[in-house]
Amino acid sequence: MIRKGPLPHPKDFPNDFTRQKVPMSVLKVRTSNGKSERRGWLVFSPGKQSLYCLPCRLFSHTVGSQLQRSQSIMASKQGWCTEQKWKKLFDRLPQHENTSAHKNCYLAWRELERRLESDTGIDVMSRKEIMSETEKL
Ligand SMILES: [Zn+2]
Repeated sequence: MIRKGPLPHPKDFPNDFTRQKVPMSVLKVRTSNGKSERRGWLVFSPGKQSLYCLPCRLFSHTVGSQLQRSQSIMASKQGWCTEQKWKKLFDRLPQHENTSAHKNCYLAWRELERRLESDTGIDVMSRKEIMSETEKL
């Protein structure tokens, strides 16, 4: 899951209990240079029909002190599901993004991705070596 990067979002999100659709703009964030970029950490769980924060789900129990641990619903097992109003995500997501718990988890996640990438590099290298060894036989 991490290796492939964030899971693609589904074509159709379920509506929330008020039958509102997910506002697509909430999935994106405006970067400092004025472009809008997908919130890569925001992942949809088809099983739970909810949106959650991938890095916080992965790392909130290992990164940071007890106090810093994210109490956010985005980091919970359930995530932000259709029993909440999607519209509230407009407030909740930036709020979540600014918590130190999230920032720590996000950095840990990026670090892991980086390491996995370099691991893959090593894999490819040794595989090539193996190939050239076999060719000699
Ligand atoms: Zn988070």
